[in-house]
Amino acid sequence: MDNLIEVNDLHFSYGPLKVLKGINLTIPRGKVVGIMGPSGCGKSTLLRHFGGQLHPLRGSVKFMGQVVHELSNDELYKMRLKMGMMFQVSGLFTDLSVYDNLAFPLRENTDLPEEVIRDLVLMKLNAVGLRNARDLMPSELSGGMERRVALARAIATDPPLIIYDEPFAGLDPISLKTIANLIRTLNGALGTTSIVVTYDLMASLEVVDYLYFIHNGVIAAQGSVEEMRNSQNPFVHQFLHAEPDGPISFQFPSKPYGEDLDLRT
Ligand code: ADP
Ligand code: MG
Repeated sequence: MDNLIEVNDLHFSYGPLKVLKGINLTIPRGKVVGIMGPSGCGKSTLLRHFGGQLHPLRGSVKFMGQVVHELSNDELYKMRLKMGMMFQVSGLFTDLSVYDNLAFPLRENTDLPEEVIRDLVLMKLNAVGLRNARDLMPSELSGGMERRVALARAIATDPPLIIYDEPFAGLDPISLKTIANLIRTLNGALGTTSIVVTYDLMASLEVVDYLYFIHNGVIAAQGSVEEMRNSQNPFVHQFLHAEPDGPISFQFPSKPYGEDLDLRT
């Protein structure tokens, strides 16, 4: 099986708001794949289908050959152990030290003795350059350090897939570069597959092998980094050059302006 994830004709709505309107994409094993698109286009909604938190209206997501929305709760739980997630909001336990934050998923999900857990925790902290921060509390970390601890925790159990949702948001340029490098090197070192979901095209171009763009609920463009840089697609061009005018509208989906104004007369 060459694809870790296969998304087929995925549709999803929140009530009347149609967000996903037939997404098709594949995540090949061993690659770093970017999923890009403007804020609010449905990237996080798509991710919630990967983890089985949302059920498709139509279509399906397959993870390692299994249709996610057909899994029992037990099977879902086991599947999620194979997905490391790092979110924009780090989600660290504020009353646990850095060390215990990393040890937590290992203690919860394995029967490993404490000495082995200790070695694993220190290895992951070393990989993100924070071995000496093990005794700090989350409130004592800078934004960039906190993101790195969250990354180390996402890889603590060596999951075959790591999903990063907006890993660069709110970081200073140096921390951003550090995180980008880590995503790239960890993917190689651990032999994992990574998905990087972001609105930050410039940062993702540094990291990914392949890119999908979501627009209007479908994949509007896709290709390698090189293909994206040279793309004539107006959508990609607008995104790449941050042009305010183009196919991406800054209006939240709404009825025509004229109709809205008429209501008030
Ligand atoms: P992205 O991650 O690309 O910024 P999201 O997937 O979070 O976008 O959201 C896609 C759209 O769905 C947005 O218009 C958002 O307002 C809406 N949305 C997200 N979550 C919910 C929810 N739980 N209920 C209703 N609407 C939602
Ligand atoms: Mg999001």
